[in-house]
Amino acid sequence: MKTNKKPWPIGTVSHVNGIRKRIDTNPDFQRPAVWSTSQKQLLVDTILREYDVPKMYWRKLGTTPDRYDVVDGQQRLRAIWGFVDGDFKLPKDAEVVDGLVTAGCTYETLPDDLRVRFDTYALDVVILEDTDEDEVREMFLRLQNGTSLKAQEKRNAMPGAMRQFVRSLTQHDFFNRVGFSNTRFTHDQVAAQMVCLELAAGPVNVKNADLNRIYELHQDFDVNGPVAKAVRRTLGLLEEVFFDKTPELERYNAIALYCVFAELQRMYAIASIKPELRGWFLEFEARRRSQEELDEEHADTEWVTYKERISHSTDAQESIRFRMDFMLRHLLSKFPDLSLKDNQRGFTHIQKLAVFRRDNQVCQVKLKCEGIRVEWDNWHCDHRIAWSKGGATTVANGQVACPACNLAKGGD
Ligand SMILES: [Zn+2]
Repeated sequence: MKTNKKPWPIGTVSHVNGIRKRIDTNPDFQRPAVWSTSQKQLLVDTILREYDVPKMYWRKLGTTPDRYDVVDGQQRLRAIWGFVDGDFKLPKDAEVVDGLVTAGCTYETLPDDLRVRFDTYALDVVILEDTDEDEVREMFLRLQNGTSLKAQEKRNAMPGAMRQFVRSLTQHDFFNRVGFSNTRFTHDQVAAQMVCLELAAGPVNVKNADLNRIYELHQDFDVNGPVAKAVRRTLGLLEEVFFDKTPELERYNAIALYCVFAELQRMYAIASIKPELRGWFLEFEARRRSQEELDEEHADTEWVTYKERISHSTDAQESIRFRMDFMLRHLLSKFPDLSLKDNQRGFTHIQKLAVFRRDNQVCQVKLKCEGIRVEWDNWHCDHRIAWSKGGATTVANGQVACPACNLAKGGD
């Protein structure tokens, strides 16, 4: 692989009929662009002030004229093009740049001097030549999260029963169905994350330090103990549901789905919906993709948030918790009759959330009100058909009740 660095003026890179057409900002090892408008505005401001913008890496493809895959820097490039195209303005409260007002400016309405400065700003681009796909992937991984993958190699060299157990999990058929390869032991890493989640019985940080800790603390891990059995049971369900290769099962999805399926097995009577779970997930992913094609103003804000959560810090507890809740809620809306094992009386957090959103936070009981809007911390999830009369604790049989109506209705 040859590399050479060259300064590339924004004006040249952005010319719509020029090289721009031959730069691919979304080659398949990249994640979708996720920058918010304020991040884009900040980049433009950085350029207008002639501050430093980090290097970009492009892979030159051996065709004439040259084409490029952006290995690193796609969000920055898209933000620059978006600004040139007039997709967004600078914020109304933008500070002056060298005495010139930029507040609310588009590229077209920028003061001339600043537009020239923007056009002539030279991006540092490292061009990778004579590379093959594997080398580029390697480079990308190093730029993005190489350290985390190296870390798994180190863990695989650690002694103890946890390492053995995790290695054995990667032989599970589920890992033949996923959409990510085992480059640099990614399967081991995901398997270790699943064990980590199971040990905590729910979402928890599954970063390298957390994984290292379980390898160290559980050197005498019982491979026939309850945690090991629970992991195998959930992997078994995943394998049963995803009976063939499923490219939608990306790394971050495998983790969130693990949590969702573990929870389903723990709490719900799922036999009747098992054959439909695969279809549900594919539909969920199709919905996500169609939402990602919409621009910020038209996309559902919940899906915008979801997209952020699958794009950064996907190994953080908060992100995993959000994704698991989001998926479970979606699932319960699709299968509203899904009941808890042994029909327990209390609704789960996720069931409540599904009911709350479905009813648009509006009281459905209307004994004392005419359908008032309730807040999350002050409402009751009511059984339409009373639990005492055989009503199930399901999303279908749940409804929003305001406190006054709930009191008037009496016990359920
Ligand atoms: Zn009411």
